Amino acid sequence: MCSETRVVVLFSGGVDSAVTAAVLARDGAEVHLLFVNYGQRAASGEERAARRVADYMRLPLSCLDLHALGCLGQGSLFESHAGSGEGFGESYFPHRNLLLLVIGAQFARRLNYNALAVGFIKPYGSPYPDTTRQFLSTVEGILVLESEDLRLLAPIIECDKVGVMRLAEKTGVPWRLTHSCDLSSAGRCGKCPSCLDLEYAIREVYR
Ligand SMILES: [Zn+2]
Repeated sequence: MCSETRVVVLFSGGVDSAVTAAVLARDGAEVHLLFVNYGQRAASGEERAARRVADYMRLPLSCLDLHALGCLGQGSLFESHAGSGEGFGESYFPHRNLLLLVIGAQFARRLNYNALAVGFIKPYGSPYPDTTRQFLSTVEGILVLESEDLRLLAPIIECDKVGVMRLAEKTGVPWRLTHSCDLSSAGRCGKCPSCLDLEYAIREVYR
């Protein structure tokens, strides 16, 4: 990676985006974390985790409160649970990642940074349509029409959750301080896809 990479990392307070930030920092990038409250039901738990992890990793963090966007929310990420899934699973919220990428791109411009990173990983099932390389390159193609130098990075997109946990160990990410549950701010519910994937990976890595 170019040593002059200045990157905003979309940071949920979860292990995937924490490892993404750690890998970029390890490779010489200047990293700034961005947490967005878009009205998701676990927002308060995610934000607390984001602050804990950012402190531990000594990375700057900005938190944007856009919770009113929750009125557009669909699927199990939101209290209303309206219009869930659309065939991709309960926690799918159409256009969420597009929205977050646009917000992240605007934030990167404000900081005069030249990259925006996401913690997309390789899922165990079919990927959501907004978590693929093709999706990212399409969005990047639109963003560069206005921000010529902006690059979208997804450094762990080829890692599955077990690989992410191994990378967390290797890069010193405090995964016990992260928050990954979609349904609860208080801890792991043990039932949502995020909890199930994380618990499987913990068993695989630490058995
Ligand atoms: Zn959960």
